Amino acid sequence: MASIYIETFGCQMNEADSQYIADRAAAAGYAVTAHAAEARVVVLNTCTVRENAERRAYGRMAHFRALKAADPDVKLVVCGCLAEQDRERMQQTAPYLDGVFGTSDLTRLGDALEAWRPGFRDDLDLTEERLLVRPLGGQGDCVADAFAHLRAYVNVQRGCSYYCTYCIVPYVRGRFDNRPSADILGEIERALSRGAREITLVGQTVNAYKEPATGADFADLLAAVAALPGLDRLTFLTSHPKDFTPKLARAFGSLPHLQPRFHLPVQCGSDAILRRMNRKYSVAQYREKIALFREQCAEWALTTDLIVAFPGETDDDFGATLALCEEMAFAQAFMFVYSPRRGTPAARWEQIPPVVGNARLRELAATVDHGVRAWHERKRGRVARALVQGPSRKDPLKLAAKTADNVTVVAPRGDLGDAALIERPWLDVRIDDTHTWGCTGEIVATAARFDAPAVPAQYRPTIDLIASR
Ligand code: SF4
Repeated sequence: MASIYIETFGCQMNEADSQYIADRAAAAGYAVTAHAAEARVVVLNTCTVRENAERRAYGRMAHFRALKAADPDVKLVVCGCLAEQDRERMQQTAPYLDGVFGTSDLTRLGDALEAWRPGFRDDLDLTEERLLVRPLGGQGDCVADAFAHLRAYVNVQRGCSYYCTYCIVPYVRGRFDNRPSADILGEIERALSRGAREITLVGQTVNAYKEPATGADFADLLAAVAALPGLDRLTFLTSHPKDFTPKLARAFGSLPHLQPRFHLPVQCGSDAILRRMNRKYSVAQYREKIALFREQCAEWALTTDLIVAFPGETDDDFGATLALCEEMAFAQAFMFVYSPRRGTPAARWEQIPPVVGNARLRELAATVDHGVRAWHERKRGRVARALVQGPSRKDPLKLAAKTADNVTVVAPRGDLGDAALIERPWLDVRIDDTHTWGCTGEIVATAARFDAPAVPAQYRPTIDLIASR
């Protein structure tokens, strides 16, 4: 069958868009492959949130050009935020591309895949030139593995209207555009029927969601999703402190399908910098929101995003960020040195030298890691139920999985075949050791559903034997 390779950089919105492209491709008669060298169509889904992401995307475009040179019939497509921002530049500097699709052009990309499909033979001679591309492998995330269907990212909203002064999103994805809840629920039902165990509702500011027709809010949407028959587990990304309401906190406490984790970006611990960032909350207000959250969810993981060396950040501002991190003891934090984005207000302000930014990042990471290790250490000696991701990147004889609070666990695979894992993808892992990146241990049992009884790992039912013949 003709195949498509989709490489994704960036955030959960891009993951969801890549899933949409994969679904449209499958409906048009493509198989999704994990190897660019085998693909008739190569899609690069790009990100522009940091300069590094842009550089990597242009590097990957140049790399895939070699594939096109080896086989002129291959179609190369770039989509995502960088495609939206640099459409004209790409068309001029990379005329070998077969399509540049912005963030609102995905339907058109799906139509193009359908139109191209009859022109591809089902078989493909892997020429030597094509095979030379294979060892270079992928750099982003690739939508193709036996377990990809277990997680579904469902867009509830596009764009953002908040215009944080460092952020490119409102310029490349537009203002808030909320999806009708009927469409969201329909997409989730389809994902569940394909075997999805974890549904992630995604949006740039997901908790600002308002149903376009009725005005129902994000707490109402969570309740509607939680009522769907067959839902296993539910989570969402990314929230804004401004839109975290008492009603939403109560929803967290009352919906048993929610994964026990909450990602609430604070970005920094200084009011002066929050104002310059146009974040629309103070540190005190962030603390109040967290207190509200903790009243309902004392044991949930709290994670965040942090930016250091934002223009104007003084040593005292940075010290306030360190102090806030010590106080909050985040279970995980995504930390970045500020990266100027063309066209945003902060890019025009006086910048902090990289040497200072890098030093602050190292100091912040050391502080945050303290809380992260402590969070992981709470799991030592316990059995954690985790959803399988696939073979560990470092050791294919081991499996990687994610716990309900989104901690990576790695354990020897033993004789668990793909068929058994798809049947019972929840792994009960006894945690023997902890690290900054996650935990390691032994798989003691597996289960079909998050709330289902465990089947001991030594037990190998007949269905596995049939499937592995
Ligand atoms: S809330 Fe701010 S950082 Fe988040 S997407 Fe909107 S503008 Fe960007």
